[in-house]
This record gives sequence, structure tokens and C-alpha cells, in this order.
Amino acid sequence: MSEEKPFCKRVTPGFLKKNLEEYKEWVREPLYVCMKCGRVARRARDLCRPVSLESGLKPADEGGREETS
Ligand SMILES: [Zn+2]
Repeated sequence: MSEEKPFCKRVTPGFLKKNLEEYKEWVREPLYVCMKCGRVARRARDLCRPVSLESGLKPADEGGREETS
């Protein structure tokens, strides 16, 4: 059983050649962007440093502006 690595770590040039269609599904309508690599994905767990793409939400370490609703 292979260890599940973050999306960021799994996507290599070799991976893309073999799994391009899968990759397309992953990055379709992304909800999160990785602050570290700049990759996008629908699931936060797929990124090593996920930040929501929704406007108004900023990384916690960028000013510390909280938004509760
Ligand atoms: Zn990353």
C-alpha cells in the first residue's frame, strides 16, 4: 500500500505523462491553491500548503485578519 503524498509531491513530469487525464480532473474547478508550489486542486488535502481560492479568505499568517460569519 503506497503512502498517500500530497498532490504537490505526486505531480512530476513522469506522472503527467502517465496520468494526464487524472490530473485534469484534479485541477478542474479548483477550490484551493498551494502557497508553496502554486498548484491548484479541489481538495485541500491534496496540497502541501492549501489556501482557499475564495475571495476574502487569506492565509492566517498574512495579517491575521479573521472572518467569522
Ligand atoms: Zn504544494
